[in-house]
Amino acid sequence: MVKVIKSTDELILLRASERRSVGFVPTMGNLHAGHISLLQEALTSSELVYFSIFVNPKQFGPSEDFSRYPRTLEDDIRLIQECLTKFPGKDIVVYAPQDPKEVFPPVFNTAFSVQGLSTDLEGELRPGHFDGVATVVWRLFDLVKPAKAWFGLKDYQQYLVIRQMVRDLALPIEIIGMPIVRESSGLALSSRNQYLSREEKDRSLILFHTLTEMRDLLAGKKEKLPELKTYIQKKLQDKNWNYLELRDAETFSKDLSQSKKVTILAVYQLGTTRLLDNTQMEIA
Ligand code: AMP
Repeated sequence: MVKVIKSTDELILLRASERRSVGFVPTMGNLHAGHISLLQEALTSSELVYFSIFVNPKQFGPSEDFSRYPRTLEDDIRLIQECLTKFPGKDIVVYAPQDPKEVFPPVFNTAFSVQGLSTDLEGELRPGHFDGVATVVWRLFDLVKPAKAWFGLKDYQQYLVIRQMVRDLALPIEIIGMPIVRESSGLALSSRNQYLSREEKDRSLILFHTLTEMRDLLAGKKEKLPELKTYIQKKLQDKNWNYLELRDAETFSKDLSQSKKVTILAVYQLGTTRLLDNTQMEIA
């Protein structure tokens, strides 16, 4: 059964009466196959899944798209119901607060900040963004009290921020990172792709092509790193890259001398739309 709840008081009551262990998938809605892949995985391992749909004002900067972020609750619920038909006997609670005050009371002055990670790279370009993410995820974890929670590796730095917060606060929650779901063209699915014009969508393929070329160039060999760095320098002549960077996939360090696994993180900007993508590779 899918139960939709918009009130936090109702959520707290329902959760308190539940004895089964809970899996959790937090989202901002406008669902696509990427979100649904998280839900499927959660339903595979949990009898009961809480799925939140909340456009979190705290993670948007003043000039970002909070007010025009696509809100499509009815369609989202339809997709969730359709997904559940493949999991007979399981249940989903959709928590979809419509008013930010349901999640953050009018006076809510606490914020979580994962030092270092939150102000680096994506966090440097979007000051306060990861504090907003960490704060809402902590709040949702506290309400939902899940045993496991699923996040997309599409937002790789966000995944690391949440994983670190859970470690630091010793929260009894297993964090699972899920692979990026892509269109057949390679473009990573994102709710923001719909902002792209036809022509921008064609141009957006540079992102996946570049990551693929970089993977091929590196081919898992540490000795290829200098060549890869030269490749990046050349690419960055195109000013549409907000960044194209190599980091240690676990520590997020720029120093890769001890790395066993690296990540390439990229943001390519088309008009006002920033397209995020990344990939991880073992190296030796
Ligand atoms: P959002 O609604 O954009 O906040 O995303 C909710 C969750 O879905 C996050 O954990 C995202 O990383 C994940 N997600 C978004 N797009 C994708 C995708 N293309 N593939 C896999 N996971 C995704």
